[in-house]
Amino acid sequence: MLRFGYAARTHTGLVRDNNEDSGFAGPYLQLVADGVGGAAAGEVASATAAYVTSAATMGSSDPNLLEVLARAVAKVHEQLRAGVAAEPERKGMGTTLTAILTDGSQAAIAHLGDSRAYLLRDGELSQLTRDQTFVQMLVDEGEITREQARRHPQRNVVLQALDGDVVPAPDLQLLDLRLGDRVLVCSDGLSDMVEDDRVAECLAEPDRDAAAEALVQAALAAGGRDNVTALVADVEDGPLISRDGAPLGALQDPHVVLDPAAVRSDRSEHETALD
Ligand code: CA
Repeated sequence: MLRFGYAARTHTGLVRDNNEDSGFAGPYLQLVADGVGGAAAGEVASATAAYVTSAATMGSSDPNLLEVLARAVAKVHEQLRAGVAAEPERKGMGTTLTAILTDGSQAAIAHLGDSRAYLLRDGELSQLTRDQTFVQMLVDEGEITREQARRHPQRNVVLQALDGDVVPAPDLQLLDLRLGDRVLVCSDGLSDMVEDDRVAECLAEPDRDAAAEALVQAALAAGGRDNVTALVADVEDGPLISRDGAPLGALQDPHVVLDPAAVRSDRSEHETALD
């Protein structure tokens, strides 16, 4: 059975006062959520997205991983909408979400915003996600190069976030992950600060714990202007094991999650749907 061996790091960085990134790293799920919004709402959005996605996918018995992820994203949106309705000063809060889920045989990714997932296979780094940003659109249209995008004044303009306003349309795709692959899921506090070549160097460190640490240190050495989160996951073979994992960043304070009791695991809903 496919599963992840993982190491994860998150850091507030050198400029920000608090960490609005959240993450969840476990044997079957790797996710990063990067929150935005004033008055502490960014961390509420990211922690809620991380919590809801991990809780909703855990133990799912639905073999259609794309639907499992789509339902989880829709639940996050509902929770954020309810959270804004309850406290209107949270209006405008939102988060990115990049989540890779495996059920032991297949793997799939859901992606919204400008966090990233990379694949290191046979020493070659490739990006699994496409930034949902204005500058990426310009790159795709051939208007600017990837290098120019890094320095573009509007590089922080995100075209889609997960929030309580707009019904989310995540990029959803199955991933062809193989034993020996290494995956990185990270917030833009890493990918904005550190060039791909350096990311590949750090990620090639055989010890994944050392790799995760090296990535965060590289972001800090480059200025650490943003919260930085890096999850390094090796695709491994092994028996199914219990679905546990580590909460990261803002999610480490469970009190910032909007309404944990409102979320049931996908398993109970799927099985209810079959009744
Ligand atoms: Ca960020």
